[in-house]
Amino acid sequence: MRRCRRPAGHAAGIGSLATAGPGHRGRLAPAVDLYEYQGKELFRRYGIPVSDGLLAATPADARRAAEELAGPVVVKAQVLTGGRGKAGGVKLAATPEEAEEEAEAILRLSIRGHPVRRVWIERASDIAKEYYLSVTFDRSAKKALLMLTTRGGVDIEEVAAASPEAIARVHVDPLQGFQPYQARRLVYEAGIDDPGEQAQVEDTIARLYEAFVGCDAMLCEINPLIVTPEGEVRALDAKVTVDDNALYRHPDIAAMRDLEAIPAEERAAWEKGVTYVKLSGEVGILGNGAGLVMSTLDVIALVGGRPANFCDLGGGGDAQGVVDALDVITADPDVRSILFNIFGGITRCDEVARGIVEALRRRTIRHPIVVRLDGTNADEGRRLLAEAGSAGLYVEPTMLEAARRAVELAQR
Ligand code: GDP
Ligand code: MN
Repeated sequence: MRRCRRPAGHAAGIGSLATAGPGHRGRLAPAVDLYEYQGKELFRRYGIPVSDGLLAATPADARRAAEELAGPVVVKAQVLTGGRGKAGGVKLAATPEEAEEEAEAILRLSIRGHPVRRVWIERASDIAKEYYLSVTFDRSAKKALLMLTTRGGVDIEEVAAASPEAIARVHVDPLQGFQPYQARRLVYEAGIDDPGEQAQVEDTIARLYEAFVGCDAMLCEINPLIVTPEGEVRALDAKVTVDDNALYRHPDIAAMRDLEAIPAEERAAWEKGVTYVKLSGEVGILGNGAGLVMSTLDVIALVGGRPANFCDLGGGGDAQGVVDALDVITADPDVRSILFNIFGGITRCDEVARGIVEALRRRTIRHPIVVRLDGTNADEGRRLLAEAGSAGLYVEPTMLEAARRAVELAQR
């Protein structure tokens, strides 16, 4: 099985690359970051109060949406990155004409590399207060973590750095589940003292936790959770990340994934069923097993090189698997040399060697390829590679020597 996983845009880095659980065959999708309007759709299903709105792809659509919503609206860029407000991607519009103008400007924006392709037109809210509420995983505590602060509307990292005591935190034990007293404690510790607000915020906490579990989310965040001048509590923003390993039980959420937002080379890899993450260096990396590939990245760095990618063949050492992986790696114009690091266990080195030889027969590969084989049938594998006698093929006995060779070849 070959797996595909990309670090989630919201939270994770390459350190969070994880293998998929059992029960999946073939390809897996990257973790799903949802757009605000999709997150709000899920919130709505769980009874969390949100404002009415409509999606628009053109300024004319935005105008019609504003006409339909009748009254002042807010025009919001739909991109998979935060801080849209500061970047000019959230604007109030008093009339449909204004909504059209704002939409036109916002649809021309690219927010931190994310081109705005759609805007969400929402009935404008009056804001008296901005709070922050989220549920995420605290991996060290092995529990879900609820966070609430009355200092919402700004980056939570800023609040955490400047005044960590302002953020109320409560862990939820996965076996006991959420208990209503936990919401009361959060509200009390956050210092929300209006009884009307307390009841609504507590209700929202319970529902957000329900949404988090019900959607197999990794993050559900509302920033800001507003209080209107009339004392009504409502989610004005939504950030939801769903665990890709659970997508098989949420076909509706799987369908929300925006493939166009995934970098082209990662999408190509995903379509071929190759686990691939683009990095910024020159040495293309192929290995079997996520752990071995991670170590290979480290060794490349140790000998002064920079890996061009993470690529895990998994058990797919057959010729087609090798051809597919090489196609993906060589599509990256930054690649100068390629390193195969194979430790044969269940995967047999002779099988991988046959795959490499076959791949070289089927494809002209411009880059030098360094191979390190160890473990099951390594001798046989090395013999097959030697027999192939290909000019750009280098067989090295150890991982360190192979890494040195690959880096040296990349620098030529
Ligand atoms: P973000 O910047 O990407 O987090 O986008 P948000 O959805 O959180 O919007 C940014 C800010 O715009 C919010 O913190 C609000 O202050 C403001 N905003 C958003 N919607 C409304 C609205 O309906 N009325 C008013 N007055 N302000 C809004
Ligand atoms: Mn926000």
